[in-house]
Amino acid sequence: MPHPDDRRMTYIGATYIGNFTDKNLIFEVFDELNRYLAENGLPTRFVYLGKLEVGPGYLINIPVEGGQVKGYPLEAVIEALYARLLQEGQGEAGFPMRRIFGLTTFPLVSRNQYFHIYEKFLGFQQDILGMKIMVLSIKPFESPNKELMKARIFKGVLHELGHSFGLEHCPNECVMNPPSDMGEWDRRPLSYCPSCMRKLQGALLSELTFKGSPESGNGGQGR
Ligand SMILES: [Zn+2]
Ligand SMILES: [Zn+2]
Repeated sequence: MPHPDDRRMTYIGATYIGNFTDKNLIFEVFDELNRYLAENGLPTRFVYLGKLEVGPGYLINIPVEGGQVKGYPLEAVIEALYARLLQEGQGEAGFPMRRIFGLTTFPLVSRNQYFHIYEKFLGFQQDILGMKIMVLSIKPFESPNKELMKARIFKGVLHELGHSFGLEHCPNECVMNPPSDMGEWDRRPLSYCPSCMRKLQGALLSELTFKGSPESGNGGQGR
């Protein structure tokens, strides 16, 4: 985990919502992501915040293939993540954060009727007053093969992280190249392509240079 004295970093809160049977898996993925970021000279790190509780009053029945599962509507998850991020900003930990990443065990659903299968498959992000809230459901990534599942989540987090720093989709062998199915996702490398890597490094450096300037943008989108 990063040291709070290192100010030349952009910190991202990392949390999870729902009942993970293997909580170590979540920690391991963020730990491996931090190693990847360090090895590639990317000045950003995840700060593990543990589990995020969302009140049981928000629970709804979510229709899935072959039945129903209990889950939270995306709007409730975004709200809880935003509140957690604000709380962290006011904390004494010394990590100034404007981004938070939440992994969930349940499928992403929204009241927004234009929220399609494609958005559910990868993640979702929303800007609220210059704060970036990212959500990724690990539901489609589930596998009895733990290493495979970790690799899928790892790539999903890199994909959303890339978007949060302005990266668009990419046609290369790259995590920014969105898959049409899980087989395609499994064939993607565990990395950004050189072009996306350069863009991300540039975006991170300019954010550190202009730290404190308000970010614009509002609304959310699945990407
Ligand atoms: Zn790329
Ligand atoms: Zn995307």
